[in-house]
Amino acid sequence: MKDLTGKTIYLKDYAPPAYLVDEVHLTFALAPEATRVKSRIRFRPNPDSASRDFFLHGEELTLISAVIDGAPVTPKITEEGLTCPAPDAPFTWEAEVEIAPARNTALEGLYMSNGMYCTQCEAEGFRKITYYPDRPDVMSVFTVRIESDLPVMLSNGNPGDSGPGFAEWHDPWPKPAYLFALVAGELVNHPGSFTTNSGKDVELNVWVRPGDEGKCAFAMESLKKSMKWDEEVYGREYDLDIFNIVAVDDFNMGAMENKGLNIFNSAAVLASPETSTDANFERIEAIIAHEYFHNWTGNRITCRDWFQLCLKEGLTVFRDAQFTADMRSEPVKRITDVIDLRGRQFREDNGPLAHPVRPESFVEINNFYTATVYEKGAEVIGMLKRLVGDEAYAKALDLYFERHDGDAATIEDWLQVFKDTTGRDLSQFKLWYSQAGTPRVAVEETWEDGTFTLTFRQSTPPTPGQPDKAPRVIPIAVGLLGPNGDEVQETTLLELTQAEQSFTFTGLSARPVPSILRGFSAPVILDRQSSNAERAFLLAHDTDPFCKWEAGRALARDVLLRMLNDGAAPDRDFLGALAATLADESLDPAFVALVLALPSEDDLAQAQVDAGRVPDPQRIHEVREAMLDAMAEALEAPLRRAYDAHQVPGPYSPDADAAAARALANTALMLLSRRDGGALAQAQYDRADNMTQQLAALSALLTAGAGDDALRAFEAQWKDDRLVMDKWFSLQAAHAAPDAAATVARLTEHPAFTMKNPNRFRAVFGAFAMNQAGFHHASGDGYRLMGDWLIRLDRLNPQTTARMCSAFQTWRRYDADRQDMIRDTLRRIISVDGLSRDTAEMIGRILDA
Ligand SMILES: [Zn+2]
Repeated sequence: MKDLTGKTIYLKDYAPPAYLVDEVHLTFALAPEATRVKSRIRFRPNPDSASRDFFLHGEELTLISAVIDGAPVTPKITEEGLTCPAPDAPFTWEAEVEIAPARNTALEGLYMSNGMYCTQCEAEGFRKITYYPDRPDVMSVFTVRIESDLPVMLSNGNPGDSGPGFAEWHDPWPKPAYLFALVAGELVNHPGSFTTNSGKDVELNVWVRPGDEGKCAFAMESLKKSMKWDEEVYGREYDLDIFNIVAVDDFNMGAMENKGLNIFNSAAVLASPETSTDANFERIEAIIAHEYFHNWTGNRITCRDWFQLCLKEGLTVFRDAQFTADMRSEPVKRITDVIDLRGRQFREDNGPLAHPVRPESFVEINNFYTATVYEKGAEVIGMLKRLVGDEAYAKALDLYFERHDGDAATIEDWLQVFKDTTGRDLSQFKLWYSQAGTPRVAVEETWEDGTFTLTFRQSTPPTPGQPDKAPRVIPIAVGLLGPNGDEVQETTLLELTQAEQSFTFTGLSARPVPSILRGFSAPVILDRQSSNAERAFLLAHDTDPFCKWEAGRALARDVLLRMLNDGAAPDRDFLGALAATLADESLDPAFVALVLALPSEDDLAQAQVDAGRVPDPQRIHEVREAMLDAMAEALEAPLRRAYDAHQVPGPYSPDADAAAARALANTALMLLSRRDGGALAQAQYDRADNMTQQLAALSALLTAGAGDDALRAFEAQWKDDRLVMDKWFSLQAAHAAPDAAATVARLTEHPAFTMKNPNRFRAVFGAFAMNQAGFHHASGDGYRLMGDWLIRLDRLNPQTTARMCSAFQTWRRYDADRQDMIRDTLRRIISVDGLSRDTAEMIGRILDA
């Protein structure tokens, strides 16, 4: 095996920059094959650094000239940058480089997408544009001039001079280079405006390719709602005269918060009823909000170094979740976030890629834009807020913005503002940032003389590099229900700080049923022995929506595991509990839809591993299908009533109530299609006037084995809409069938399949990786196919390749044959000559575990 040890970078080695930057002037003469970038940068020695080594990052640049204070210099150039003797006093650096945006398929730095120039600089893309100290703790004011004959030329900040062939921009707010952005192309705008709380008028634009202008209104409304919400809830106003959003087709991530010029994957901004589902609308609203909120949590206060990534991402994910909860249903948002956290972050925490919310080392920082940094990072903030209370949280945030505006800050700075406002010692809490792994909390209960005692024991399994873990602070929200279902103890917060700890409740007239971890108050796995009768009781009576749903989920998991492990039949009591939930008209239909959704096949595989078994993906799929068939049979009449009762009349609206009704109706449709051969789904497909209804019907038809005609019709209707075609690819790659690998191979031969577009690649291979029975088919065809395509993609786009490698992160849970086949595939990838640092690091970590 090859040496994988790319240069590892450690948090403990942080050193301040030798030189700081006061001003940057950039001039871009755009040309696809030979863009010239001139820079004029004002440096000064950093008084906080003893070093005077002048180093500028730079990769894949052709240096044309370099000058210090007017005198030409000859720097020493390596693959990573350049060094050069420099004065121990302020000086001006001027350089000219040449780059080739048209040949940039990695989509980092300046690249082209459908004839349009755009940039992606986070984390380390700016060094592919010009020589610069490309690190977040170097912040400067940027002035940019763009020269080209394209009609629209944008950069950060406020517009300056412009005329035929040029446009200038000036950003008065100091920023690190990763927030730099440039866009130029034939674009059209959907305009809007916003007046801030203090009366400042801001011009808003959503820029898209001609033809897409009809799909911008929702993004614009979402932006205005976000601006207003951040003023009302966090007291944060916007700070430039203009805010631009640009949609780009070829983009590695969802979107990027560049100061005043957010660049979005077109999938995260374009929306219309005909082409976007309810889930798309909700996601677009959330991503627009997320990137906008970064203006304060990320841009005005940025990260000192990339180890602090969760400082901006955890907080901003937490803020966008609060926003979505306010705009839509708080319980539904919380439950879907928990499903996502368990499906992605717990899975990561449980395998070879586990790492702390604040990692301590990396080879390639792009590999740490993970569910742990983002989603667990947000959970940590939620716990902090629960522990200190809403009022103290608000005070701490005010202090954070006041104290650190303009700073490149750290997690220590963040925790200090909470310490200073509350007087609370957060040293133990800080373990959430440094210890990887999901804590398991076992709970036992006793009842004696009117006293109810809950005893908790916490432990965290070993993770790579961290064999032993100290107990953490775990906030556990608990309520108690009486035997008749009334709440006898309202929600109270228990603070677990020791390995083992007991809490008592007195003055109770009868043994209560506890409702534990309300609102999912901490990202832990709760181990509690419980009967299915008690779970059904909580599903019927719990006042906490999360625990109510969780009881149903635990019941479903238990029933499915007994079918898997003991060959049991589908449980009648479980089906009865579902019928009761369906009949309860007081419930939010979106909540009912969530209760009807079974745990995923991946979730069941992990549950088997937790019970010391080796999961068989094919068998898990069959058992889950059998349960869905049983649900369809037992609940046919109530499902049909729910379907009919939740048809939404009138023109389509993406609001939460209408989306909730459609969620339940479409969940019912999926089940009913198992009984009627797809007749109801075909009828819905034929009359659908929006994508939510059309796609749900298509999916139900596929499940019923009657989707061939609809697939052809769908393709004919949408062949020119790239985002809708992603759905068409994805649905087929996700469809479980013994020949799923062959289906995926056939999809890659479709004329509309391309590796160059990350959305299209993910639509096929991301969906396939989630298709447990197909991807993990005993033939090994799925592994080989994935391996072949990751090798091909790595040559073009290392970042997306490396992310897709996580498809293999659960490999150790399977049988010896599957492990051998996966190991062969991983070794085949890693032995490729010239494999990227990104992919080599990921495969290396997965193999080493
Ligand atoms: Zn973000």
